[in-house]
Amino acid sequence: MAPLKLPVQRVLQETRLHYDLKRVGMWRCSKCNVVVHSAEWYAYHLVKEHAFDNPESADAVIHVEDYSNQSYGGVNYPHR
Ligand SMILES: [Zn+2]
Repeated sequence: MAPLKLPVQRVLQETRLHYDLKRVGMWRCSKCNVVVHSAEWYAYHLVKEHAFDNPESADAVIHVEDYSNQSYGGVNYPHR
């Protein structure tokens, strides 16, 4: 049997961090306004800095900064 999941893993897997992992964008913490690119780092931040240990309350402060049309991915290259 698997041991109890670490809170960081639960936050990562049971919030929007899970299905937005592959998106191009940034995460903003609405508690302290820090902006991060890594979902793993952000999950760790929520658990360690704000002591969230359940995904529901952690999800409430997750804010997605969608930069996809400014940096990678969404750039409109001119047609050749
Ligand atoms: Zn924060």
